[in-house]
Amino acid sequence: MTIPVKPKALSSHEARDFKMLIDGRWQAGDARPIERIAPSHGVVVSRFPAGSKADAERAIAAARKAFDNGPWPRMTASERSAVLLRAADLIAARSEELAYLDAIEAGKPISQVRGEIAGSVDIWRYAAALARDLHGESYNTLGEGTLGVVLREAIGVVSIITPWNFPFLIVGQKLPFALAAGCTTVVKPSELTSGSTLVLGEILQEAGVPDGVVNIVTGTGPEVGAVMTSHPDVDMVSFTGSTGVGKLTMTNAAQTLKKVSLELGGKNPQIVFPDADLDAFIDAAVFGAYFNAGECCNAGSRLILHKSIASEVVKRVANLTQNVRVGDPLDPSTQVGAIITPQHFDKIAGYVAKARDGGADVAHGGGTLDLGMGQFMAPTILSGVTPDMAVAREEVFGPVLSVLTFETTAEAIEIANSIDYGLSAGVWSRDFDTCLTIGRRVRAGTVWMNTFMDGTPELPFGGYKQSGLGRELGRHAVEDYTETKTLNMHVGSRTS
Ligand code: NAD
Repeated sequence: MTIPVKPKALSSHEARDFKMLIDGRWQAGDARPIERIAPSHGVVVSRFPAGSKADAERAIAAARKAFDNGPWPRMTASERSAVLLRAADLIAARSEELAYLDAIEAGKPISQVRGEIAGSVDIWRYAAALARDLHGESYNTLGEGTLGVVLREAIGVVSIITPWNFPFLIVGQKLPFALAAGCTTVVKPSELTSGSTLVLGEILQEAGVPDGVVNIVTGTGPEVGAVMTSHPDVDMVSFTGSTGVGKLTMTNAAQTLKKVSLELGGKNPQIVFPDADLDAFIDAAVFGAYFNAGECCNAGSRLILHKSIASEVVKRVANLTQNVRVGDPLDPSTQVGAIITPQHFDKIAGYVAKARDGGADVAHGGGTLDLGMGQFMAPTILSGVTPDMAVAREEVFGPVLSVLTFETTAEAIEIANSIDYGLSAGVWSRDFDTCLTIGRRVRAGTVWMNTFMDGTPELPFGGYKQSGLGRELGRHAVEDYTETKTLNMHVGSRTS
């Protein structure tokens, strides 16, 4: 029944008060601050300014001014790159502080967050390298009298909106690339987990980012986010969050035809054939389902198992799940932390109850894990799930693994592709043809073969279908924050 890690009361605990960053100045909001209660400990750990529409407008005006007249877009790429490299070093130097904030505000295991911060440092360095390789094209083949040059210019003011599940990692998949291109930005972290993004603001000031280039406005989506996605002075919106809010973002942005980049939900299949290396797969199944308490766009939340191995695999996944350590995010041995809010806990529990009523069996977990404080859920395995059930089609965003079965490869592909999401997928087989067939036919932005959830900054990431629009990371990541401009130059006297 999993290994419980009871949270220890926070010793000499005091909530940290944060300010937001607008035009180089740190300021409190006018309204009562937003209090963040740690999902693992049940006490207030952070207070963030409740930014208003007016705060968002002032931040956009500052970013506009910094883009139109400030030094950042006019620096050499080498100068911008040097600032990003300094930022990476400062992130590394403050990594324990950043890891603590994400762990306590989001309920994520500290050992896992340390890995995310180290990964972020690598991404900031990658963006610094790409900054110096941004270039356009030239054509001297258009006839003697014509020279064509295609410039890549920074797109302008970018609104960056992020979710609560990877607070520091996700802002790092957007901001350094926007800065590398020469853009200016307004950033809105989730109102549940704003601490590490605000510390990033301090880091960027120290690294030498000029005033107005990075503004950070805390607050809710309907208040601050709605202005950031609709204001005419914003040129692009880079959003990560739920598919529902992603659609709203696109609707708002359409009013002034802003470019949008959307990283949205997922319901990712892992398809397993009888010839797979099951030892490796069982480990990846447990990791894929319960990493970040399943509050992960990439969670491998749908196992699609060949019928002949299904009961053995479910038994082995359940056995390994018993060894998972669930509880205090501040204990370095913890593997699964707390659920982000009581409301979200109820939503996850509702999916499990509905699946049970619909005929699914609970092979492991199924409910609350009472650790004396906070909200924790036992890692749950539902077997006998059918493709029409809500738990097989919708993003549960919790530690719930649904098990479905197939008999033919065509059936596995059909089940995998039968839902609205298409973020990632996994296939497990020792046969190359099988892996490649699944890899080509499953509609997802990433397909892992005999592994799961690996990633590096060089590999683009993003979704098919309703999992998103555009890609982050990869060698084109900086180009996403640019426009092209064609210079058509005539040489010599013009005759028609
Ligand atoms: P969410 O959509 O509720 O919120 C995301 C952000 O949008 C928050 O900052 C929120 O304040 C803001 N927001 C809310 N309403 C808004 C509005 N009307 N206008 C503008 N902004 C608004 O998502 P969440 O619950 O914070 O995060 C979980 C979701 O994020 C899941 O669906 C998950 O799959 C997705 N996600 C996707 C990826 C990816 O890379 N594809 C990565 C992480 C999370």
